[in-house]
Amino acid sequence: MTEEFPALYVVPTPLGHLGDISQRAIDVLRQVPWVAAEDTRHSAPLLRHYGSNARLLAAHQHNEESAAQQVIARLAAGDSVALVVDAGTPAVSDPGARLVARVRAAGYRVTPLPGPCAAVVALSAAGLSEAHFLFYGFLPAKPGQRAEALRELVDLPYALVFYEAPHRIVDTVAALAATFQPTRTLVLARELTKLFESMHACPLAEASDWLLADVNRQRGEFVLLLSAAPPAANDGEGERVLRLLLADGLPVSQASRLAHAITGSRKQALYQLALRLQR
Ligand code: SAM
Repeated sequence: MTEEFPALYVVPTPLGHLGDISQRAIDVLRQVPWVAAEDTRHSAPLLRHYGSNARLLAAHQHNEESAAQQVIARLAAGDSVALVVDAGTPAVSDPGARLVARVRAAGYRVTPLPGPCAAVVALSAAGLSEAHFLFYGFLPAKPGQRAEALRELVDLPYALVFYEAPHRIVDTVAALAATFQPTRTLVLARELTKLFESMHACPLAEASDWLLADVNRQRGEFVLLLSAAPPAANDGEGERVLRLLLADGLPVSQASRLAHAITGSRKQALYQLALRLQR
């Protein structure tokens, strides 16, 4: 690591397997005098393992603003800082985004390092062939809000990627099954890179039974991946009408609403298509 100026390095750390860290990430952790960590007690042994003697400062979701000021003060003194979270990539369903924004606004360099991210690791082996995916992260915990959030996703022509914790996995899979077409494929990626790593793909209609058949299948950390909504029979007609309305100068929301009313084609899919066509 050759640095001309102090920088904030955003450093992904392993999801489980300690070998999953880049040489560059290890070099950065060894050379920076400070590491801003989501949980300093969790990160201290990890840093020792990689031979880092950096001093730790806490940067979690409840103190991101004040942590940013501390990081900026270290950078102003000429010291580089690394930002880490408990596992994976900072700012992906984890703290980090606000801190990074403050540091950049203060005029300092922010340097991201590539590395482990549960969503990407799961996608790489899920076998879903969609060209696009939507990373959702955690759904709301309350059943009503979760159902509402899922309804908004129902027609999207993208694979959907969710994070879930073990104590909610059964409820969340049931909520998916209650909302989306039963023939869509659900991939349950569990404990990636760890001892009990498993990936199971099945039609959504069968996922709850599969989970309930063995409590071990409900243990650990999960990425859930759902294949995209299949095109509806009348989507072609919907697209034809939508293109005409947009060509006539109607705004996106009105054009997609009218195309839905005229053809019965899926409203959300039309809206997303209208946005793409407009761009
Ligand atoms: N920043 C992390 C990343 O880059 O993936 C995500 C942190 S988020 C607080 C924790 C969630 O990520 C877990 O509840 C789970 O959904 C997912 N996750 C983390 N590690 C995992 C693993 N080894 N296997 C499967 N999912 C994992």
